[in-house]
Amino acid sequence: MNIDSLIKEADRCVKCGLCLPHCPTYQQRQDEGDSPRGRIALMQGLAQKKLPLNENLFNHLDRCLVCRACEAMCPSEVKYGELIEATRATLFNETAAPSGRAADMMQRFVTAPTHRRNLSRLLRIYQRSGLGWLTRHSGLLRPLGLQRLAGVLPKLSSALPTQRYHPPIGEQKGEIGLFVGCMGDSLDTTTTHAAIKLLTHLGYGVHLPAKQNCCGALHQHRGDLKQADRLAKENRDAFDGLNIDALIYCASGCGSTLQKLEPMGCNDAPVMEIGQFLAQAKWPEALTLRPLSKQIAIHLPCSLTHVLKQGHTPEALLSKIPGITLLPLPDNQNCCGAAGDYMIRHPEIADELRDSKLRQLDTMRPAILVSSNIGCALHIAAGIRNAGLKIEVIHPITLLARQLP
Ligand code: SF4
Ligand code: SF4
Repeated sequence: MNIDSLIKEADRCVKCGLCLPHCPTYQQRQDEGDSPRGRIALMQGLAQKKLPLNENLFNHLDRCLVCRACEAMCPSEVKYGELIEATRATLFNETAAPSGRAADMMQRFVTAPTHRRNLSRLLRIYQRSGLGWLTRHSGLLRPLGLQRLAGVLPKLSSALPTQRYHPPIGEQKGEIGLFVGCMGDSLDTTTTHAAIKLLTHLGYGVHLPAKQNCCGALHQHRGDLKQADRLAKENRDAFDGLNIDALIYCASGCGSTLQKLEPMGCNDAPVMEIGQFLAQAKWPEALTLRPLSKQIAIHLPCSLTHVLKQGHTPEALLSKIPGITLLPLPDNQNCCGAAGDYMIRHPEIADELRDSKLRQLDTMRPAILVSSNIGCALHIAAGIRNAGLKIEVIHPITLLARQLP
């Protein structure tokens, strides 16, 4: 979006204020500058050069979670997501504001596949040695500013197989390209293993190209569109030439950037979130999932509801498990505070938003919480650990794969 279109789009805001009660930062701070309406006015003033860029203005825009709850509620359909993305890109080029050691480390970790996989290997050894617990609890990381980052690290499961193609089991339905992103091959291999198992059992051959990389969502959030475009090109090249029916991804947070990659593959394969794909796929008639008599809470990430408009799919899919009790979190329309690297850069706001989810979980006491986005899952799981609750946090796909016969 260029400056002229930005000013025109911001003009479409009629200042009705209907979005204000849905904005988490406005709810917390009760400051017009931290509301969608206020931010739109600031972005417009900045673009028209009527407002100077100062620290106060920068902070109002930086505190936005880009959860897009405001956009979903706006009767005028103002494209808030595009406005903030374009503004952050300008700010990124003009200010080069530091994001802090932990956020910088996170950005480096996600974009270098070899470095990422090697570091995950080391982390697995480190966690199994018991040193992970010791380092986290001894305060050794505090002077390095990494305590917070270490606090969200999950217990890592086994590395991904080096096998690049997983053939279908039973009658073949089609071919899938599986995008695993930066987390699916490092901190969240559990979900990737589950996706391969589920898709192959449903009759899909799964391609896992080695050269794929991070989707670039973290960079896009921050305004670094150059890096996001570079990653998009890498991913397009990684999947190019594969004869696939769809390109599937598991972390809903990858959706807004990956959708820009369409069409992919040599036959214009659509790009889809795995839940969306599975909800419309024809399941083998003979396949019955094993029953589960447990209470399962459902967290809906903003990326799934407000961006992809697929908030209904986790419940629809998990209902296939006989005996299951599904409990959507009562405030699923509100952001949990993870929002990419926001949980590292704005820990106080992020934790306050998460506390509301933790209070609900404390009352509900489910056995498992499912979340379709790894960033949200890590942030909420860290809160669950700190609160001493015994609730497992997994992707809905992991639960479905566990219940395969
Ligand atoms: S963004 Fe939409 S809902 Fe919010 S004040 Fe403007 S027109 Fe109203
Ligand atoms: S994207 Fe979320 S945090 Fe940002 S203005 Fe909209 S509702 Fe508020």
